[in-house]
Amino acid sequence: MTLAPIIVLALMVVGGLVFRNISRRRRRERLLATPLTDEQRQMLERLVPALRHLPPSLRPKLEGKINLFLDQVTFHAYQGLELRDEMRLSVAAQACLLIVNSPVWYETVRTVLLYPSTIRTSRNRDDGFVVHEGETHLAGESWTRGPVVLSWDHALKGGLDADDGHNVVMHEFAHQLDSLTGHTNGIPILRKDQSYAGWEKAMLDAYNDHVKRVENGHRPVIDPYGAINHQEFFAVATVTFFEKPRELKRDEPALYAQLAKLFALDPAECA
Ligand SMILES: [Zn+2]
Repeated sequence: MTLAPIIVLALMVVGGLVFRNISRRRRRERLLATPLTDEQRQMLERLVPALRHLPPSLRPKLEGKINLFLDQVTFHAYQGLELRDEMRLSVAAQACLLIVNSPVWYETVRTVLLYPSTIRTSRNRDDGFVVHEGETHLAGESWTRGPVVLSWDHALKGGLDADDGHNVVMHEFAHQLDSLTGHTNGIPILRKDQSYAGWEKAMLDAYNDHVKRVENGHRPVIDPYGAINHQEFFAVATVTFFEKPRELKRDEPALYAQLAKLFALDPAECA
């Protein structure tokens, strides 16, 4: 049997894969360079007012990432919830705000599942594959390399209120960033100018301090829920970084500095 047909077939397969990768990259670049429509901008002005504080130079980046997110992620609505563009846009904008100035991307997020309000579950919390929020009534959950599940009621409120220290979309997508390493453990992929030793020291010092404050009945600026474990602490600290940046910088300056490097943002300066 001659090898020629096999070689030709192998070349065709390789050529097809190269062509597909080039097409995907071009599509991604095109989406990242595409601005939102005026209608989408007006919708976001109403749904996620915190975007007004974003430095103007980052606005085109955010809009491109929102377009990429909306292209990549399929939304499903359950329990009678009627899926609308404003839901997709609000979730996409809040998720992309986290990484507006960072090179990381939600590579593994393909689906977002929306429920009208809190989600009932009988599963135990943190079973190794999924991180739940709450006991049996959840505002959201994040599956490693899987879907993000959200209560639309909570996601909407999170976008509307930018400084109450709670944001379920940012919280669940912080878990997604954390899990990009393959382990959801409070140690995400760091930037080139960050050391893992520096990250661990700042996070562990702040976490231990947080647990003590919660145990002593104090109300720290970071949500007490973060005392559960390191991955929850990373998620709630991330939300605090965006929603109460000045207070976080005042109370936990080393942690703030690490998050500022990770996200390449300094929200305390533009809050
Ligand atoms: Zn969580």
